[in-house]
Amino acid sequence: GHSVQVRARRSASGNLVVVSTDITDLLSAQAMLRDVLDAIPNSVAAYDAEGRLILCNPAYMAMFPVSAKMATPGRRYEDIVRFAVGQEIYPQAGETPAAREAWIAEQVSHHRTPGEVRRLHMADGRVLLARERLSDSGNLVSVRTDITDLTRTEAMLRDILETLPSAVIAYDRDERLVLWNRAAVELLPESAAFAAVGRTLEEMVRFSATSGAYLDAGATDADHDRWIAARLAAYRASSGSRTLRLQDGRFLTALERRSESGNLVCVRTDTTDLKRAEEHLRWQAERDPLTLLHNRAFFLTTLDRALAATAGGTPVGGVLLLLDIDYFKQINDTLGHDMGDALLVEIAHRLRLYLRGGGEGAARLGGDEFGVVIPGLTDPTAVMARIDGLHGALSAPADLGGRRTPLGISMGATMFPAEGKEATKLLKNADLALYEAKRHGRGRWTPFRPEQATALERQVRMADALRDALARRQFTVALQPKRRLRDGAHAGFEALARWHDGTGWVSPDAFIPVAEETGLIRPLGRVVMAAALARVRDIRDRGFDPGRVALNVTGPQLLDPHFREQTLAALRRQGLAPAGLELELTGTALFGRASEQIDAVLRDVSGLGITLSLDDFGTGYASLAHLSRLPIDRLKIDRSFVTGIGRAGPGGVIARTVVSLAHSLGMESIAKGVETDEQMAFLADAGCDVAQGYLIARPMLTTDEAVAYLRAQAPPATVNGISLQA
Ligand code: C2E
Ligand code: CA
Repeated sequence: GHSVQVRARRSASGNLVVVSTDITDLLSAQAMLRDVLDAIPNSVAAYDAEGRLILCNPAYMAMFPVSAKMATPGRRYEDIVRFAVGQEIYPQAGETPAAREAWIAEQVSHHRTPGEVRRLHMADGRVLLARERLSDSGNLVSVRTDITDLTRTEAMLRDILETLPSAVIAYDRDERLVLWNRAAVELLPESAAFAAVGRTLEEMVRFSATSGAYLDAGATDADHDRWIAARLAAYRASSGSRTLRLQDGRFLTALERRSESGNLVCVRTDTTDLKRAEEHLRWQAERDPLTLLHNRAFFLTTLDRALAATAGGTPVGGVLLLLDIDYFKQINDTLGHDMGDALLVEIAHRLRLYLRGGGEGAARLGGDEFGVVIPGLTDPTAVMARIDGLHGALSAPADLGGRRTPLGISMGATMFPAEGKEATKLLKNADLALYEAKRHGRGRWTPFRPEQATALERQVRMADALRDALARRQFTVALQPKRRLRDGAHAGFEALARWHDGTGWVSPDAFIPVAEETGLIRPLGRVVMAAALARVRDIRDRGFDPGRVALNVTGPQLLDPHFREQTLAALRRQGLAPAGLELELTGTALFGRASEQIDAVLRDVSGLGITLSLDDFGTGYASLAHLSRLPIDRLKIDRSFVTGIGRAGPGGVIARTVVSLAHSLGMESIAKGVETDEQMAFLADAGCDVAQGYLIARPMLTTDEAVAYLRAQAPPATVNGISLQA
């Protein structure tokens, strides 16, 4: 099967010329073309140089059903378009005849100078991509592709993009801005206002740097350049995510990714809430939940930082303080944990007011223990002044549940680097100093001294020895007489604990505080009470009236739930009446807090007929409020005031004032530590009721001594039950 084209022509000479051409190949090529045109989904229409239609394919007919009858070969493109516009298939053509003519002219001009790809929106919602091509032979091929589905997908993607809470910004392979979504506008309004399709990545980054939106972009041109370079490198590396900080405090997590097709997609997510939650968690991990001060762990880092701080190569130095609240356990026990907590919060508040920044830090280290670091404080005078100030501020009375409660704060101080270069060493120093402050009566601050280490060891050894001494019954009592000043009559004894440890006498001033600290004061108090009452019994049995015997008692003893029965039992055992007993209350331990429990015990004991004295009056914690509230019978003037009699200072005046205070409250006054005739005369003149001191007699270790003393005072009242008096 060959195809042959036959052409016949009569020549001028009248001959018939027949030319046959084999067009088999040509026909098959045409057929192929036809097949292709029939098969492709794109509409194809070809026009000649005058714009007349030569051919169109079935897709064309399907795409433009309205022009079915117009699309016949030879028809001009312009007429076909005008017809189609008249059929209202192109909404883009506009409404008015003028607009429509203009639009038609535009389409025609596309035919004249083809090349630009454009979109045609059809009235039925379809979107067509239109492009024209001019062939070498001058024919024009016009192709239309239905991209409705594609634009739908695109619109869907666009919707997704706009709905995303994250900002999306995309650059093409040449790093030119292609798109950004609504979140980008909301998140970075300034950048969005600057953004325009075609802007380069570098332009955008430079704008970000100079707009001041980013906290870390710096202020100078050099800062900006550095920031821009880092950001561009990050974009181009497009690996991992980074957190950027905005000037307004927000956090952005930035993620950049280069797609396979070379586009650069940047995602910015506002992670401020997340970051805040994270920060809050960290904040919590560093804090004590009650006082909101830093906790021990964080305090150690504060201290380490202060230790590492140097100025010009030399350590900045500073002070470390450890402090706690005196008798805090009793406050908790007697006022309740709520009050204890309130007090801790109050102390934290006072600490915060005291801090001045610059690395200064305060923390709650646990329980009622607090720590303070003050870097840069090294001048001894300044150190003294600052710590005195802090101690004073912390010790001011606190309002606890509407009651003004006196506060005692004990504090230890150590300086660095002079006394230590490491946190552990310094904490140990401050702890030793704090211990020393407590040992010296609390309510004070003490600087660290190297010999305190041995002092602590002595304390520990002392506690062990005390336990041992109790087990071995090494304790006894000395009785020191008291004299009535009015008539010189014997007025009873004070029982004082005595301890011979096998090598010598140990001072009560050394072991009583340790006993109080360790709780051993309770068993020790029972031993002293039993020994004192036994001694009194002995004296009575020898026919002398010992008068009232006074025992020293402290808070922990009174808080012993068995104190009352044990006291009554001890009296009964020796056949003595409660009226023969006096309790000297040591102020500090008792009245550090307004303990209702102690108040109750004292009222109870007083009700039994036992006399109550306030010891160390004037230096202890007892206030006038305690005097009016408690059943106190006597005020015992502190030795320091008696010593001050006849010397410069207010000692004598105070002694006299305490006497008249006692009298005006219906109480007795007693002076202790009386060593001179002058003191004795002064006290007698002041109207003091009773005196005690070396001038009268030293404490006596045996019954014989006491009896000899009493015999020298006055003849015995009875011997073996027989009255010797007339
Ligand atoms: P205190 O209650 O002030 O007891 C009086 C102290 O002063 C006694 O010291 C006594 O020996 C001393 N003293 C007496 N007259 C004079 C004097 O004229 N001049 C001087 N300079 N001192 C004089 P001591 O026996 O060393 O007791 C010291 C402290 O130990 C007592 O002070 C008391 O608070 C405490 N204490 C002693 N025994 C006990 C006890 O059994 N229980 C308790 N809880 N504390 C006790
Ligand atoms: Ca006493």
